[in-house]
Order: sequence, then structure tokens, then C-alpha cells
Amino acid sequence: MRIKVDFDLCESNGLCEAMAPDVFELDDDDFLQLHTEQTTADNIDAVNQAVAACPRAAISLVEDDES
Ligand code: SF4
Repeated sequence: MRIKVDFDLCESNGLCEAMAPDVFELDDDDFLQLHTEQTTADNIDAVNQAVAACPRAAISLVEDDES
């Protein structure tokens, strides 16, 4: 699965980073950066927690062949 963030919805509160710091990181300008767009067996549980934690529903998972 591929991780998509709607940056128009994101309010840079860092909850996703708290759940999955290997994937999400707020930079020095409080802009959310993704270390990877790809879910793996190692990060999928944390990514799902980040999806659930985001109060803006800004994170979604899509099939790799979807845009
Ligand atoms: S939890 Fe959602 S709103 Fe908060 S920084 Fe992550 S994507 Fe943005």
C-alpha cells in the first residue's frame, strides 16, 4: 500500500509522527515530511495507528496502482 497525505487537511500537530516516527516527521518549518510512501511489514502497524490518530483524516492508504 502507498501512504498519501492530504496536505490541505494536515494541521501539523505531529500525532502521526508520535505513532510512526520512522515514516512521518515534521520539519523545522512544521511541514510534514514522509520518509517513505510505502507501507512495509515493519511499518504497517505504526502507519495504521497514525491513520487512526490523525484528527484531520489527512492520511490515507491506497493500492500501489492507484494514483
Ligand atoms: S496527524 Fe494528521 S494533521 Fe497531524 S501532522 Fe499527521 S497528517 Fe498532519
